[in-house]
Amino acid sequence: MRVITIANQKGGVGKTTTAINLATALAAVGRQTLVIDLDPQGNASTGLGVERNDRELSSYDVLMEQASITEACIATAVPNLSLIPSTLDLLGVEAEMSGAAGRAYRLRDAIHFHQVEEARFDFVLVDCPPSLNLLTVNAMAAANAVLVPLQCEFFALEGLSQLLQTVEQVRDSLNPMLDLHGIVLTMFDGRNNLATQVVNDVRAFMGDHVYETVIPRNVRISEAPSFGKPAILYDMKCPGSQAYIKLASEVIQREQALAAA
Ligand code: ADP
Ligand code: MG
Repeated sequence: MRVITIANQKGGVGKTTTAINLATALAAVGRQTLVIDLDPQGNASTGLGVERNDRELSSYDVLMEQASITEACIATAVPNLSLIPSTLDLLGVEAEMSGAAGRAYRLRDAIHFHQVEEARFDFVLVDCPPSLNLLTVNAMAAANAVLVPLQCEFFALEGLSQLLQTVEQVRDSLNPMLDLHGIVLTMFDGRNNLATQVVNDVRAFMGDHVYETVIPRNVRISEAPSFGKPAILYDMKCPGSQAYIKLASEVIQREQALAAA
């Protein structure tokens, strides 16, 4: 089982879209996949068709040790894809856990327990809030690797060094096994010269860490969540869905290389 945390403290860069569609593509090739929605906004839960009223147990209950991974996860409309939804209770987690021993390890412990007891999943993808708070730190402490979506815009690299520093800190203090899985460039618009420049800059700066696959800006991708469907189900042929399917095969390749290393 591999745990991949999808993080970037900037909002609107494509974390949730990447979590949903990468998970769907992994599930489509037969990998048992779990998305854990760790953002109080709950966009991954809504995007996978789970409305607020249908969320009984949530990632909040897992973090508060009131539910196990197995108890909190629910099936989605996508075969092989399960979800632990989020609720607004997550907003209070930081305050409720302040001073609690091992509070950065709550998610890791829950996943570890699951792995020992049952190990139902091949991949766990954790969708983080747009912040480097205790939720994101829990997600990084629980992960094998961090995947960073970067939007192809002028300020793409701004904030990246702070994010990479957080990854280092978590590696030094909480999770020595943590890898930087890679950077995926999102919302690329080929008609925009600046976007091409950003892709080149990020590749020059981060080298092999950047995925070959670049996710294009595609209106079908932004329409899909309002139907409670991953874009890959909503319109599998659209360029955005095709890019996420390609990304999934790259992720599987990298995972195999990392797991073997
Ligand atoms: P984050 O989780 O980082 O806040 P989201 O994945 O929610 O970012 O994306 C922000 C917005 O951009 C959403 O409305 C989403 O539908 C849209 N979006 C994401 N990726 C694409 C894309 N490749 N093409 C078009 N719109 C996109
Ligand atoms: Mg999000």
